[in-house]
Amino acid sequence: MEVRDHQLIIVGAGPAGLCAALYAARSEIDAVLIDPGPAGGQLLLTDRVDDYPGIKTIGGMELADAMAEHAESFGMKLTRGTVKSIERDSEGRFLAETAEGDTYRAPAVIMTAGGTHKLLNAPGEAEYAGRGVSYCAICDGAFFKGERIAVIGGGDAAVEEGEFLTRYAEKLYVIHRRDEFRAQKMLQDHLLGNPKVEVIWDTVVDEIVGQPTGVSGLKLRNVKTGHESELDVSGVFIFIGFTPNTGSLKEHVDHDESGYIVTDGDMRTSIPGLFAAGDLRSQLVRQITTAVGDATTAVFAAERYLKERSAARDTSENGSEGQTETMMESNA
Ligand code: NAP
Repeated sequence: MEVRDHQLIIVGAGPAGLCAALYAARSEIDAVLIDPGPAGGQLLLTDRVDDYPGIKTIGGMELADAMAEHAESFGMKLTRGTVKSIERDSEGRFLAETAEGDTYRAPAVIMTAGGTHKLLNAPGEAEYAGRGVSYCAICDGAFFKGERIAVIGGGDAAVEEGEFLTRYAEKLYVIHRRDEFRAQKMLQDHLLGNPKVEVIWDTVVDEIVGQPTGVSGLKLRNVKTGHESELDVSGVFIFIGFTPNTGSLKEHVDHDESGYIVTDGDMRTSIPGLFAAGDLRSQLVRQITTAVGDATTAVFAAERYLKERSAARDTSENGSEGQTETMMESNA
């Protein structure tokens, strides 16, 4: 088995990963950024970004390309691969194995793998996935020109992507399980100001129904009154949050009750040498701005970790029993 050695492995090329790769390259750290797809992460599924300071409005893909080009100009090494396991060897180095059969080794890792869309787990969801059930407005919205469609959820993604879908839909229903959105006020105002939009409050989807050709409607239930109803739609877009992509970590790492990785202010996790940045980190908000901020801190903390580890190993080789590294690990 060929092992590729680096100083730092960065897992996931969304905004956090690209920013980490940029700073690592600038600092002349030998880093590899691993991602299965083209660079950009969630940006590739985002129509428009209008809250990135200094840029009034920009397409998600355009911003992804700009970030990737910027990091490349500093010498970012981006490699295709799906990291399936991350384990430590006896020397405390991380071994990252990809589904494609490659193995990368480094004393430090920054996890920037983001999250995966949560499933509604309603009957019909899996059956009609790709035939009317979608998790990406940009990818699939245009298939529903002039049709009646529904969005499920009440967070930023549901409200923002819902507004995007009004350009195609004849009528857009937003179905939310409570009587208020958690989305940012400005996003809500844009959505609610659109005459094509109707919000169905306090309501859950009991079933997604359809025909061989695809989705034809939803069975709904009002959670306050128990009233059941049916809604004719040909598409349903589900935006009910994220599950953090932490499954590749084979060793226990401290996380919150929803599975998001807990870090300190320097993005250090409970495992020495393992840092986390962006959407998979436990924090109040998950924005592009917070992702790149996290990533910047993580790179400088990782660089410090690498220097301290290397100094501790030198000391150890010179006979002082590796005290520095032991101290450093107990502080992490
Ligand atoms: P989110 O903020 O966690 O919102 C999920 C929504 O789905 C909530 O309204 C929740 O209802 C609802 N929900 C959860 N489970 C459900 C279920 N089983 N059935 C029905 N409804 C369910 O997730 P998100 O909107 O995907 O956003 C994820 C993160 O990315 C957030 O931090 C968000 O701020 C950020 N983001 C930001 C932007 C932006 O700034 N432009 C855009 C997209 C995402 P309750 O409200 O009742 O819990």
